[in-house]
Amino acid sequence: MAARDRYNANFKCENCGNEGIVKVSEDDYPFMKKLHRDVDGVEGQISAHMNGEFEIQVTCLKCKNVGYLFKRKRS
Ligand SMILES: [Zn+2]
Repeated sequence: MAARDRYNANFKCENCGNEGIVKVSEDDYPFMKKLHRDVDGVEGQISAHMNGEFEIQVTCLKCKNVGYLFKRKRS
């Protein structure tokens, strides 16, 4: 049975400053290639969903601005 690691990620809208919390869970095995990251829920006036394997897309419900958490840097 896979252990799940749960934590909160803070989100701040770059456009209007609205803040929210994204509740994230992922597999707690560093040797695994895939984290199976998932959005469990949100707090505040935001919505969030997975955008691919790692990135979380967050929409500010106040101004409809879209931001990202865990965005991969281009190498
Ligand atoms: Zn906003």
